[in-house]
Amino acid sequence: MEQPIAVTRQSFDDWMVPVYAPADFILVRGEGSQVWDQQGKSYIDFAGGIAVNALGHAHPVVTAALVEQAGKLWHLGNGYTNEPVLRLAKQLIDATFADKVFFCNSGAEANEAALKLARKRALDKGNSSKNQIVAFNNAFHGRTLFTVSAGGQPKYSKDFAPLPGGITHTPFNDLAAAAEVINDQTCAVIVEPIQGEGGVLPADPAFLQGLRELCDRHDAVLIFDEVQTGMGRTGELYAYTQYGVVPDVLTTAKALGCGFPIGAMLTTDELAKTLGVGTHGTTYGGNPLATAVAGAVFSIINTPEVLEGVKQRHQWFLDGLNKINQQYPIFSEIRGGGLLIGCQLTQDYAGKAKQITQLANEEGVIALIAGPDVVRFTPSLIIPEQDVKEGLARFARAVARICS
Ligand SMILES: *Cc1c(COP(=O)(O)O)cnc(C)c1O
Repeated sequence: MEQPIAVTRQSFDDWMVPVYAPADFILVRGEGSQVWDQQGKSYIDFAGGIAVNALGHAHPVVTAALVEQAGKLWHLGNGYTNEPVLRLAKQLIDATFADKVFFCNSGAEANEAALKLARKRALDKGNSSKNQIVAFNNAFHGRTLFTVSAGGQPKYSKDFAPLPGGITHTPFNDLAAAAEVINDQTCAVIVEPIQGEGGVLPADPAFLQGLRELCDRHDAVLIFDEVQTGMGRTGELYAYTQYGVVPDVLTTAKALGCGFPIGAMLTTDELAKTLGVGTHGTTYGGNPLATAVAGAVFSIINTPEVLEGVKQRHQWFLDGLNKINQQYPIFSEIRGGGLLIGCQLTQDYAGKAKQITQLANEEGVIALIAGPDVVRFTPSLIIPEQDVKEGLARFARAVARICS
């Protein structure tokens, strides 16, 4: 056998389009909530691949599903359906408001499908000027041109003009401001129940309730982007059930495949009719390999054990983080739901989230940021208590260093 090509962190700078600035070590193996780098150093994983590895690394049941399907059938193309995709669709339908599912490969693609559906639905009704989309400041919906334009962080879209038009942004959690811009020309409102990338900001229940009413009044499609909040992350399968507000379209990805790329758009029978044969599609959407993995993931996550366990783990994190904050007061607020937790840094530590996660890496724990002023945790939904304790002890050492 030929020797594998020798690679180091420097290789990234040499060979990769520099859209990322990854950490200065390379991880090679993971098991549960622990990962190891090329030098054999261990890390507790509190990032879970950005809310993706909801069952940790190398989960035996998920791995077995992947291996079994890998020996059977990988891909057919959408001229032929397959068993795993139909089973996964039924699992999602039975567990949610949805009657129909469209599969794709990422969160951005799921949102792209949702926005296209909303535009076409309005047009099909004969209203060609009902094409306006309302979205929120600081929102994140993906990186395709349409979804980055729907996102509410101009730094991600401004360099790619001309952008798709007809998108208005208003402040998150400001119902009065939303009511000003939602009208009969609005075809869709897209919102995250908890803004993830934007800083782990939960929507107020009254805000989502109000958006539901405004969408009903003006016949607009209410899209919940649950790409980050979905698949058990908040302690329910999807966060909309906690809010008691049912969207018309829900998008899901990230934890759906626990690391195998897959996304989905869930909707009702009536809305699904909008996207008839040939109107939308993607080569890999619903391929048997991805959907077999997601089916196994779904069977594990959508159980009382795992969902209740998320709530318990939320408390472990909160207790541990509050204790750290008592000793080293660097957080002004600890917020979020389930295992989507954001720690807002005080004025004194503003802008230091990245530096804290770098120190955390040195101490052997992986954490995320959500903007420059928020440290974010999105670990495995089944992370063992011992790993939570050990990871928080390591994180405390990083915090002590930033405070010294
Ligand atoms: C990550 C994320 C996306 C984008 O998903 P990709 O798979 O990266 O395209 C969209 N919406 C939300 C809320 C996300 O957190």
